[in-house]
Amino acid sequence: MAYDSTNIFAKILRDELPSQRVYEDDAVIAFMDVMPQGTGHVLVVPRTPSRNLLDADQATLGPLFAAVQKVANAVKKAFNADGVTVIQFNEPASGQTVYHLHVHVIPRFDGVPLKPHSGQMEKPEVLAVNAEKIRAALHQQ
Ligand code: AMP
Repeated sequence: MAYDSTNIFAKILRDELPSQRVYEDDAVIAFMDVMPQGTGHVLVVPRTPSRNLLDADQATLGPLFAAVQKVANAVKKAFNADGVTVIQFNEPASGQTVYHLHVHVIPRFDGVPLKPHSGQMEKPEVLAVNAEKIRAALHQQ
């Protein structure tokens, strides 16, 4: 399937839709997932378009995962988490719902299961508070 530039994350990248951004550089943006599977769930999205990992240019992957590592350390620190889950879905059979490559970064706490994927919308004010904590942790890196 070809890349479709009308997907939600392409619109967020073009600032046509709002997002609670926590990080950006030349290669990626990172923002809060609106239906978090856990407190502090962030999506890291490369600026270069691809549908998912399967059709991505290899040059996209290094900077993407460098940013994923940066954000993973920041969310762990921001929420004093015990661990961090990093997930990436490819095509509908895997659970992918937005067709612009992205990586989920989710703080984890001992004994606390993940909430369902694409489950309940979080309140924007809760996302804003969590985003600020992550930005603060990133500034301390
Ligand atoms: P995936 O199944 O990997 O394609 O997941 C897409 C993710 O995007 C899900 O976790 C959704 O909760 C999240 N999502 C959908 N729309 C938005 C949006 N406008 N802003 C932030 N996250 C979104």
